[in-house]
Amino acid sequence: MSLAEKVKSISGEDVTSCYQCGMCSASCPVRFAMDISPTQVIRLVQIGKIEKIFESNTFWICSTCFTCQARCPRNINITRVMEALRQIKLRREQDVISINEIPKEELKILPPIALVSNFRKTTA
Ligand code: SF4
Ligand code: SF4
Repeated sequence: MSLAEKVKSISGEDVTSCYQCGMCSASCPVRFAMDISPTQVIRLVQIGKIEKIFESNTFWICSTCFTCQARCPRNINITRVMEALRQIKLRREQDVISINEIPKEELKILPPIALVSNFRKTTA
């Protein structure tokens, strides 16, 4: 799955229609604190450069104000894209538990939802 497809599966937003007009960056109230612009983040999603995005502070600085999505001529909800990127980053950094390494006695008492939640983390 490409990065753009993964972002779409989490956010519902298709970034492939972005034509880099720059309106999102121009309208962002916290652009001054970002090391790369929202427009650049969208472009990096299009070309699958997740590590470049994670090297930046942009998706953390985003304050979820929705201004950019209100202005985007392509109706891309950039706010949701930023949230999807945060989710991908956070899930990636979770420790992954191998079920085969859990002692059988502990498996008997662990709540099943704890295991299910852990497996979900590995799908990001
Ligand atoms: S406003 Fe929309 S079309 Fe323009 S650069 Fe941002 S995401 Fe792309
Ligand atoms: S939602 Fe985030 S990226 Fe969009 S304008 Fe607001 S702070 Fe900037």
